Amino acid sequence: MNAQSHDIIVVGQGAAGLAAALAAAQAARGIRVTLVDKASEQEAGGNTRWSPSYMRMASPDRVEPSFVHDMLTATQHQGDEAYFARLAKEAPATVKWIAAQGVTFIQPVYYLAKGPPRIQPEGGGPAVVKQLALAAKAAGVIFRYNCAAQALTSERGRVTGLVVTHDGVQETLEASAVILCSGGFEGDGAAMREHFGEGAQTMRLISPGGKFNTGDGIKMAVALGAALSGDWNGMHAEPVDARSKNSAPVVLVYPYGIVVDKHGQRFFDEGYGLVHETWEWFARGMHFKVPGSIAFAILDSRLLAIQGYERAIRSEVPPVSAGTLAELAKLIGVDADKLAATVAVYNAACTGDPNTFDATRCDGLAASHTLQPPKSNWARTIQEPPFLAYPLVGAVAYTFGGLATDASARVLRDGLAIPGLYAAGEITGHFYATAPNAVSVLRAFVFGRIAGLEAVSFLQGL
Ligand SMILES: Cc1cc2nc3c(=O)[nH]c(=O)nc-3n(C[C@H](O)[C@H](O)[C@H](O)COP(=O)(O)OP(=O)(O)OC[C@H]3O[C@@H](n4cnc5c(N)ncnc54)[C@H](O)[C@@H]3O)c2cc1C
Repeated sequence: MNAQSHDIIVVGQGAAGLAAALAAAQAARGIRVTLVDKASEQEAGGNTRWSPSYMRMASPDRVEPSFVHDMLTATQHQGDEAYFARLAKEAPATVKWIAAQGVTFIQPVYYLAKGPPRIQPEGGGPAVVKQLALAAKAAGVIFRYNCAAQALTSERGRVTGLVVTHDGVQETLEASAVILCSGGFEGDGAAMREHFGEGAQTMRLISPGGKFNTGDGIKMAVALGAALSGDWNGMHAEPVDARSKNSAPVVLVYPYGIVVDKHGQRFFDEGYGLVHETWEWFARGMHFKVPGSIAFAILDSRLLAIQGYERAIRSEVPPVSAGTLAELAKLIGVDADKLAATVAVYNAACTGDPNTFDATRCDGLAASHTLQPPKSNWARTIQEPPFLAYPLVGAVAYTFGGLATDASARVLRDGLAIPGLYAAGEITGHFYATAPNAVSVLRAFVFGRIAGLEAVSFLQGL
């Protein structure tokens, strides 16, 4: 083992790590900033590289006035108000700073229904990773790929460096500060099983980037006594086309039809709320509770008449299509008699005026109360051939359990900051119950930047 001196080491080249490294390098030219990523240069970027990176802002210079309140509601009041208040406060300045690095922000058209307002970097996550990596290199950040962080070193409780394996060779890199941005643990099957129960290890990763996020940074910090935060039984998951080979082939038109298991039975209220309000627990429930962990969205040809319906389907594989429900059932391997019975019961309960159907909002077109499970919106009969089906499985995007950090991105131990240790992005906890929509990338940028600036101040104060 040999030791090399680095002032600040950032672990992970996603949104959080890039923001941290760039902010640190720009803040103090004399400070040596190194970013290590366990993936190759082509694959580094974690989930960020595969994410459209919607960010919950009303416009690039403004978050909704209700932002903090909304975060506390999403976390069922278990979230840290100071953390979310700092996020809201710093978001506009952070977006302005990212834009100054050559990233353009747009206001995207979302799936079909309106959700909270959002902005998006043009070109999504891939563009952000490319542009911020370029800016960081220009600012003097040294990048080391195929370089996996394994352990933190410390003296008298203060971080002194990082043990890495670089191209198979173990090294100890000395540093005055380390910023952990290595994502959650969705890529570690054993940890998934430990926290979510048997079967979690087989859950599909929604993007190839998730396989690198194996909770390494969390374990490294915990070995130094770091405190934990976030919901360890929480993950963000979405329903994807079981047949697709694409990244994130989400199918988000299920609210407009019904969803059945392989026995042809419905098992939840597909129209309970807007799609981003139901996708997480639908995807989780499908994986853990539905026989074979697979379900089928059943629709009819009226789907194709919904304006812009293609936006809500990110699979490259067309739906299974048939002239009759019996043929459709045969093609997807579902019991034909049971599917026919389920659709008949559902159709009979669709007693509302179909002219009030509106895919863009909760339209109140509920099925009659006798239907079990209920269908609270978009209850329109399935009767116009061709009949369509999408086989769906639940796929995990990211986990919620992580490190406890304060509003200055410092990693906490017994309520106090661990000197020289910072963390940002998915690796930090802070999310509980359900993923607040379009906040993960935003908080990675904001707290990544804060971590970079804080680490520089820490070094300057030594
Ligand atoms: C398909 C998809 C769509 C999404 N859409 C949105 C969206 O629209 N809006 C939103 O807010 N969020 C979205 N998310 C979530 C969001 O993209 C991520 O939570 C966020 O980008 C995480 O950023 P990060 O920097 O914390 O981690 P990541 O981007 O995952 O980066 C982690 C990096 O750490 C590296 N790493 C891991 N372990 C080590 C180690 N031991 N040593 C060195 N390097 C290591 C990895 O290789 C990776 O490059 C989406 C996620 C996915 C997968």
